[in-house]
Amino acid sequence: MDKCTLVTGGTGYIGSHTTVALLEAGYQVIIVDNLVNSSDKVLSRIEKITGLAPIFVRADLRDTSTITKVFKEYPITSVVHFAGLKAVKESVEEPTKYYDNNLGSALSLVKAMETSGVSTLVFSSSATVYSPFEDSPVDEGATLGPTNPYGMTKYFIERMLTDVALGDKDWSIGLLRYFNPIGAHSTGLIGEMPRGTPNNLVPYVMQVAIEKLEKLYIFGDDYETPDGTCIRDYVHVVDLARGHLAALRFLEKTKGSHIWNLGTGKGTSVLELIQTVEEVIGKSIPKEVVGRRSGDVPIVYADAEKASEELSWRAENTILKMCADHWNWQKQNPDGYQ
Ligand code: NAD
Ligand code: UDP
Repeated sequence: MDKCTLVTGGTGYIGSHTTVALLEAGYQVIIVDNLVNSSDKVLSRIEKITGLAPIFVRADLRDTSTITKVFKEYPITSVVHFAGLKAVKESVEEPTKYYDNNLGSALSLVKAMETSGVSTLVFSSSATVYSPFEDSPVDEGATLGPTNPYGMTKYFIERMLTDVALGDKDWSIGLLRYFNPIGAHSTGLIGEMPRGTPNNLVPYVMQVAIEKLEKLYIFGDDYETPDGTCIRDYVHVVDLARGHLAALRFLEKTKGSHIWNLGTGKGTSVLELIQTVEEVIGKSIPKEVVGRRSGDVPIVYADAEKASEELSWRAENTILKMCADHWNWQKQNPDGYQ
């Protein structure tokens, strides 16, 4: 193996799937994670899928001296940076925690990379950086305007990394703006593990389906959309994982900073999503329409052409496959990795 990648947040949802993709593509993987929102049990599952074990270092990214030691100890040539807190509602209630963790981690990582002479970085950004007033499909040139502290942390980190690449032409940086990641590895061995009651639609529906939650509340059916419910661009986490690999390969050959949307380019309404889950599980889901959730935008989906042209990456999995894989994981692991 001649390529060694540091995956921060690699025991988390998207990080674990990307670790699988990297190991399968012949990369050595070093994971750094403090397990604030994940379990180290994922490591043996990754090994079960790939037959290969990532190296695991339990550490907080904000601890720059420990992270610098990791770079000294292993022959790391690139970094995929997932580590961060991601709950929008919590970020509104505890903004300092989000600015400290997310900005602190990114800055500390970049400093450790500078000290170590590693300058290839893929960063997990989000479609939440776009202004809610942009019409869909949203392309990478659309106006930015995050509306909550979580989205702001992504926006500020994007700005910082863009400046880093402008200041030193040796850097190769990819900013990946994910739309709505769902699904799980087809083995059902790894998947998303929400702490407490989920806020996002798919994890919530799945917990209603396994009867952990009583019913789904549909936040509004009076939007200006064909069925009145909000439309989002759901993308399979395994497709996202492939997207990271494609971005890394591009950055290994190209300097500068680059932005790519990772989405399917197709919108699915809340009702269509629920119908698909019902089809997968073979029964109806208890549900009730309630008022709109504050801050929700009626329609958001990606223009995914740039990733297709520059990375030869396209999301391949259908919404049915996303829901089937998510259900397979949920059914096999009703309590996550516990
Ligand atoms: P996740 O919570 O499952 O994974 C994040 C990982 O980072 C966790 O394992 C957590 O323990 C770790 N972590 C957090 N702070 C850390 C710190 N200071 N030091 C070390 N480790 C730390 O989340 P995910 O869904 O896999 O998301 C990965 C990244 O993608 C995040 O940055 C998130 O903001 C971004 N993102 C996620 C979504 C989504 O819907 N899942 C959408 C857009 C962007
Ligand atoms: N949603 C819902 N009930 C829930 C959770 C979400 O009706 O319990 C709706 C929400 O209003 C939005 C869509 O599902 O229109 C997707 O929500 P999610 O939080 O998953 O993604 P985001 O809105 O952040 O893109």
